[in-house]
Amino acid sequence: MLTTPAPHKIVIIGSGPAGWTAAIYAARAQLSPVVYMGVPKQDPGPVLPGGQLMLTTEVENYPGFPHGITGPKMMEDFQKQAERFGTQVYMTDVLSCDFSKRPFKLTLSEDGRTQSGEVFAQSVIIATGAVANWIGLDNEMRLARSGGGVSACAVCDGALPAFRDQTLCVVGGGDTAMEEASYLTKFGKEVIIIHRRESFRASKIMQDRFLARPNARVLWNKVVVDVLGKDVIEGVVIEDTITKARSTQPCKGLFIAIGHTPATKFLKDAGIELNEKGYIHLRNRSSATNIEGVFAGGDVADEHYRQAVTAAGMGCQAALDAERWLAAHNVH
Ligand code: NAP
Repeated sequence: MLTTPAPHKIVIIGSGPAGWTAAIYAARAQLSPVVYMGVPKQDPGPVLPGGQLMLTTEVENYPGFPHGITGPKMMEDFQKQAERFGTQVYMTDVLSCDFSKRPFKLTLSEDGRTQSGEVFAQSVIIATGAVANWIGLDNEMRLARSGGGVSACAVCDGALPAFRDQTLCVVGGGDTAMEEASYLTKFGKEVIIIHRRESFRASKIMQDRFLARPNARVLWNKVVVDVLGKDVIEGVVIEDTITKARSTQPCKGLFIAIGHTPATKFLKDAGIELNEKGYIHLRNRSSATNIEGVFAGGDVADEHYRQAVTAAGMGCQAALDAERWLAAHNVH
């Protein structure tokens, strides 16, 4: 006779700073959390268990690491810390969630070390993060993967020595592009925003902040159609969107700032309230979603800050909220 497996007290979906921090707190509260880390995939850029930090080289702005730490090493250490307190970890994707009744039912991908394709949970923390959007060019992805000077996070990578006093390009016309480009003007000899239209969608104040810098330049109506360089970037091939004329712009860094996509596809039909861009909508400055017993933290619920340290803080909040909610429902 088939029996339904006993529900876990807390299932955490996602393995970036928010997921691991939630796991550390939940494990120390003796709630035996289970983390589904996700599996590596291309979508269209690389998506790895551990999240966006796995694609970052040096992290210099996370407090407590005065000499910096690489993103992958940081996530490895977060995982070890969660496991030390008894977190169970599976390299598995959660394909869908049924939050219509408790315990909640999660359907897993087949490749995990799990007893069956379905698990049950009294509470769930969603910490699946967001994926930076890429242009999708082969050479862009190759140099992003190899650390060859192509990045989707200027705040993470911009201060590295390789970018000092160099010509740096930023693609995008929103607030993120302005913010990243303004940040880069502190290090680069010249910072060039390459934008596909003749006006920015960014707020006026953010545009002005960038344009006021003496080393700021904009290439309007241009798109990047190729990235040059074998081991490190040497330049970009740009195409004028009106004349279609192509030219080469030499540069030693390329920062893609064309938005992020939250990893919420698997929540389709799960009834979780998302905003118009697909981010999870949180209630009353807590980690609570619109469904009781389901919490969220990190970039999947934050389109503004998107830092490792803010994600970790949100993961902590989610674990504390889940712990209190479980206690109120007599699950210990
Ligand atoms: P966004 O506002 O969606 O802007 C994305 C930009 O990338 C747009 O200019 C868009 O061009 C361009 N783009 C999109 N796909 C492209 C492609 N394939 N090739 C070339 N260009 C492409 O995204 P965001 O800048 O990341 O901002 C997201 C949200 O966070 C916004 O609400 C923003 O206000 C907020 N934010 C706020 C702050 C702040 O206040 N400090 C800082 C950062 C972000 P088009 O304009 O032609 O569509």
